[in-house]
Amino acid sequence: MLKASLRSHLTLWFTGLSLLTLLSVGFYVGHIATEQMKQASGNALLNTARSAATLLGEQLRERQLEVYLLSRAPHLERGDLDNPAILKSMQLRTEARAEYAWMGVTDAQGNVHQAVNRLLVGQSVQQRPWFQAGLRGQYTGDPHEAVLLAKLLPGTPNGEPLRFIDFAAPIHNAEGQVIGVLGAHAHWNWVTRIVESATFSHKNAAPDVEALIVDHDGKVLYPEALMGQQLAMDEAKAPGWSVGNGYLTSMVTVPTPPSTALSWSIAVRQPLETALQPARLLLYKLLMLGVFAAMVFGLVAYYLALYLSRPIEQLANSAKQVQNNQPGAHFPLQHPVREIAQLGQSIDAMTQSLLAKERELQEANASLEATVAQRTADLMQANAELLNLATHDALTGVFNRRRFDEKLTEYSLLSRRTGRPFALLLIDADHFKRINDTHGHAVGDEVLKQLAQLIQSSLRTTDFVARYGGEEFAVLLPEIAQPDTPEVVAEKIRAAIADAHFPAVGQVTVSLGIGLADPADNNPTALIKRADQQLYQAKAAGRNQVA
Ligand code: GH3
Ligand code: MG
Ligand code: MG
Repeated sequence: MLKASLRSHLTLWFTGLSLLTLLSVGFYVGHIATEQMKQASGNALLNTARSAATLLGEQLRERQLEVYLLSRAPHLERGDLDNPAILKSMQLRTEARAEYAWMGVTDAQGNVHQAVNRLLVGQSVQQRPWFQAGLRGQYTGDPHEAVLLAKLLPGTPNGEPLRFIDFAAPIHNAEGQVIGVLGAHAHWNWVTRIVESATFSHKNAAPDVEALIVDHDGKVLYPEALMGQQLAMDEAKAPGWSVGNGYLTSMVTVPTPPSTALSWSIAVRQPLETALQPARLLLYKLLMLGVFAAMVFGLVAYYLALYLSRPIEQLANSAKQVQNNQPGAHFPLQHPVREIAQLGQSIDAMTQSLLAKERELQEANASLEATVAQRTADLMQANAELLNLATHDALTGVFNRRRFDEKLTEYSLLSRRTGRPFALLLIDADHFKRINDTHGHAVGDEVLKQLAQLIQSSLRTTDFVARYGGEEFAVLLPEIAQPDTPEVVAEKIRAAIADAHFPAVGQVTVSLGIGLADPADNNPTALIKRADQQLYQAKAAGRNQVA
């Protein structure tokens, strides 16, 4: 498992949690704001639609009323369809109201008797829906393109076809019979201007709002660009406002003039995107704020963690230093957080006590080692001394008899194997009893020591010297080839002793007997016997000589 530092842990947790909290709050508040925004925008749209519908309804009713009142003129009731006062009346009205494109009187067969500007006079409008509806009662019709008037009236500046809505009312005579129809065409753009002005008269009108006029089954009549499109009526007809198709829509039915079948609605709508823009903005701001706050929290957490983890890291490092026997380990003893200070103090105390124990142990160890070394040296020296004692003569320092015997056996075995001869010299001090008697035993000892030294210094290092008995010495010569034959060596020894001066005694001489090893000898005793016989002969021949 990857172990992250306390710093990373704390920072990550703090940042993560604060981000989570702040984002949740941000989303929640944003959601509420969106809902409220929707409510507020929907209500605003509803108000706009209501005022537009009310205004349009009033205007339509007023025109309808106007046509109705004209149709009830006394001249017409009397059947005088051609009376000029009627034309005068109609002319005054069309002059006063620019929306009227045409106004005229027909008989019951649809023949136009008189009309403003004499347009269509003498022609038949029998096929026109307004005429047919006008025979039956008051009529306000859906917009339609100019059919008969298209050629007679100036076109619209932008080339769009002329569109009208029609008003009509029957003309009754005194007996109540329908004798004609009074009709009027109003420019469709008069209607749309009413709706537009009602929608956009509000100074603080919301952006991107558009007003639609739809007929009874949801077909768009205005604006031109959307004409013929079908609006989902069920949804839009919901009281108040509704959401759908990416729009927030409010639809209100236009209060129509009584006794007409006209059923329009005003739909005021706004793209949901635009309507909720302020809420979105608020949400973004909240989210940004959340992220920023999380970053600040993370930073604070980082420094807090640093503040807490630094002494712990230092503790760990120092512990490692102690473990690796590195000097300079330092434990933080002061920290505002009580537990950390306690930890530092405890580890410091523990380390100090451990180090003290280790030092004691090391010191004890060192003294033990020194003692052991001293003891070992003593023992080795004693051993060496013991070995020396076992093999050397205590008085003269040359090898003793025991060592001589071993050496002689060794030489004999070697000689028997290789067939190479060796020699034995036996050396005996002359009249030694006399020296003892004359100068005392101590002087005799000194003479023995000097003799041993003289013999030793007349030999090679490979030659072997031992004290054989009282004042007798034995020499083993492993090499007996020329020029140092046993005789030569023996003579050299004799001469060296004879020429030497002995303190208190003066001159001392020795006699020497030579024995040569014979491979045929069964044991070394034969060799000794031969050398001894030679020595005896040297003595007998007058001493101070080699036999
Ligand atoms: P020669 O050999 O010439 O025939 O006469 P000598 O006097 O040497 O006769 P012998 O070999 O019999 O005498 C040996 C004497 O050496 C006897 C003894 O008192 C003496 N002696 C033996 N060992 C020691 C010793 O360790 N120290 C001293 N001072 N004298 C010793
Ligand atoms: Mg002797
Ligand atoms: Mg002697």
